[in-house]
Amino acid sequence: MSKHQFNAEIGKVLNLVIHSIYTNKDIFIRELISNASDACDKFRYLSLGNEESPLEIKIKLDKNASKIIISDNGIGMNEEDLVENLGNIAYSGTQKFIEQMKNNTGHQQIGQFGVGFYSSFIVANNVIVYSTKYVENKEDQKTFVWSSDGENGFEVQEYEHILPRGTTIELTIKPEECDFIDKYRIRHIISTYSDHIAFPIKLTDENGNEEILNTGTALWIRPKSEISENEYNEFYRHVSHSPDTPWMTIHNKIEGVLEYTSLLYIPKNKPFDLFHQDRKSRVKLYIKRVFITDDTVSIMPSYLRFIRGIVDSNDLPLNISRENLQYNNTVNKIKKSLVKKILSELKKKIENDTIEFTNFWKNFGEVIKEGLCENALEEKEQILDICHFYTSKSEDEIINLQTYIDRMVDGQDKIYYLTGYDIDNLRKSPQIESFINRGIEVLLLKDPVDDFWIQVVNQYKNYELKNVIHCDGSIIDNDTEVDKLKNKDDKLLEEKIIKSFKDILSNRVKDVRISKKLISSPSCLSVPEGSMSGRMEKILLEQKQ
Ligand code: ADP
Ligand code: MG
Repeated sequence: MSKHQFNAEIGKVLNLVIHSIYTNKDIFIRELISNASDACDKFRYLSLGNEESPLEIKIKLDKNASKIIISDNGIGMNEEDLVENLGNIAYSGTQKFIEQMKNNTGHQQIGQFGVGFYSSFIVANNVIVYSTKYVENKEDQKTFVWSSDGENGFEVQEYEHILPRGTTIELTIKPEECDFIDKYRIRHIISTYSDHIAFPIKLTDENGNEEILNTGTALWIRPKSEISENEYNEFYRHVSHSPDTPWMTIHNKIEGVLEYTSLLYIPKNKPFDLFHQDRKSRVKLYIKRVFITDDTVSIMPSYLRFIRGIVDSNDLPLNISRENLQYNNTVNKIKKSLVKKILSELKKKIENDTIEFTNFWKNFGEVIKEGLCENALEEKEQILDICHFYTSKSEDEIINLQTYIDRMVDGQDKIYYLTGYDIDNLRKSPQIESFINRGIEVLLLKDPVDDFWIQVVNQYKNYELKNVIHCDGSIIDNDTEVDKLKNKDDKLLEEKIIKSFKDILSNRVKDVRISKKLISSPSCLSVPEGSMSGRMEKILLEQKQ
């Protein structure tokens, strides 16, 4: 037998879960069913859809022993899996979550974090997990038992019997929660949260009667008109492993040369692992209803990695290896078609509900702009269409490039921008004084990614994108402002000033010049055309370290 402590954070998280996240206790059923369904999906993939006996999820109620038992015949877990998966919160954002919790105890923040398996401890004071992992040679199958009271770590040991493949979770229900051990209650919970599950969920009541509680058809196969908002939302929670509701749902069936169904969601909040180094997309790929993988950069580009959901194709062979997906022509076509659909839905949203779109952009704009950094990206123009920016003219409002173009002054033929870390500082920058003075709007780009894509994208709809730090003197043709400034030239004084600046700064600057672009500030830094911006240089230096 081996005894384990929970990893350091779990104790804290468990406490939170039990006492504050889930005011709605029912959801422990949803989480356990969701895991059982994932496990069945994984096994179906291994058996290429030829499983000997039907995959199913079973719930048993035992009032006398105060137990609810949930079992599946999915892939199962071995000793290592049990320690790894049930001893750590299987979520890369855990550390971040704890940090956020320290700074902000807002309920909404907590609600974004799904804790999955641990929700069992909302209603149970003891949880035992029996699991037998699938191995090719049945004779090598072993059963392990994981147990915990949710407070003092957990124990794992080999079980004296060998149970059939899959996992059984035995919850001993707290006396004050024993109302849950009731078939009407369970039936209601399943129909509310788990009807979308594609495997039959069978309930055996106290008297040994069995009934199937869910529809058992994969949700995405059903016609849109027959799916309720609640069903869509529950499916989102299942695929995203997140307890909130989606911001946008895109359910689409494509028929013809290419055949696939997609049910995609855009989350309302930023997932915690959005900037995780792997930048992986997490859309699940199914082939003819069989789950294949959720490691799907090949089907969803990494600049859309916040998208959750599933894609189910009829055109791919079931035995395609995960590694070969990215070289498959059909996969590439599906990817292109999905990207096009998503970007066009986003564009529609801008037209229909600007405020809603603004919220979305503040969450995910930074990620989408990563797409612009890729040189050969086909959909660059489509991405630029939806990009929104702060500008020198608006306070909190963000605008798209078309609005910028519509607001250009007479004679202006370029889109001007300035990059930097902080919007307030950018607004006060001497670099844009003369632009403001002339009524010319300047885009203020504050995201680190802006320094990168702006190197790759030079124009939008025939308007050059130009950094104001590369501008001097005449900004628009026949600029009379510049001439007015020139009248006061005093050659001798200018030379004197330049000399004393150069003496003091010596080789820290390349040159000192009289600027024609300042209005009220005495001086500003200037960067020659073609050179890196100061911030870009800083970012690159930081990465070297
Ligand atoms: P998540 O589902 O978000 O990964 P959970 O806490 O719900 O997080 O589950 C943690 C992990 O434990 C799962 O990712 C899975 O690997 C494993 N797991 C949980 N329940 C089962 C099950 N019934 N069968 C097989 N593996 C399971
Ligand atoms: Mg889960």
